[in-house]
Amino acid sequence: MWSCPFCQSDNCRLVMEARGHPILRCPSCELVFTGVKSDFSSSEIYTEEFWQADSDGIGYRDYFREQEKSRRKWERHLKKISSHTGKQAGRILDFGCGPGFFLKAARERGWETFGVDISRFAVDYAKKDLGLENIHCGPLPPDEWKRQGFDVITLWAAIEHLPDPWKVLKSLCSFLKPGGLVCMTTGNMESIAARREGENWRLMTPPGHLFFFTRKTMKTLLEHCGLRMTKYRTNDYFGKNPPSLFRIKPVKKTLRLLGRGDIMTVFARKS
Ligand SMILES: [Zn+2]
Repeated sequence: MWSCPFCQSDNCRLVMEARGHPILRCPSCELVFTGVKSDFSSSEIYTEEFWQADSDGIGYRDYFREQEKSRRKWERHLKKISSHTGKQAGRILDFGCGPGFFLKAARERGWETFGVDISRFAVDYAKKDLGLENIHCGPLPPDEWKRQGFDVITLWAAIEHLPDPWKVLKSLCSFLKPGGLVCMTTGNMESIAARREGENWRLMTPPGHLFFFTRKTMKTLLEHCGLRMTKYRTNDYFGKNPPSLFRIKPVKKTLRLLGRGDIMTVFARKS
């Protein structure tokens, strides 16, 4: 029997088995999570293979080659951050920064950049190959970064990898300036792709991914950490072979506005 790692409720129900791992839903807070053994260590996953060789199908085939595509994504994120905060630059911390490509784009726009990642390989790349300063290898930012605080903290496809996202997010909040912004992306468990494809959904990749949020469970998590959701939207990806109806522009747009895409982007303010 599994209990909910967030609210401790018992009787979590098995939703499916994916890659040999049980995926469970809490009957009380509705959180969906991967059931992992108590000795599970997530830091062992993020070796060089995770970024380049797609070791167990939970990593990237070639994160570095995908960067040209990602560059436009980072630019879009930075524009949204600026329009949301009214700031063209400031102090930004990317938690789970990986090899540092987002921070590189932010630095070019004039942001003062800081990064944290658990992966030694990724941190070395960010420092040596991209020449980024202020990159810390570890589970949390160093305490001395707290003194000046951050205007923005980003977690791009990072929160679902953490064994205890509520603890980390709460701790990160203490690094935010008053009114500071948290920006995240993560999978959307109530997306059409997640519902139609189940264990074969592209983001159903335990034990890399440990949590699968919905708008509601994300809001609960944010509020628990002293954050207020100020923006929620999803992409317009609806699965591998979506019904042809979904390809019609107005339908696509409506489904996106209804939050049915499989990646959510969330902005939240420190209350
Ligand atoms: Zn729960």
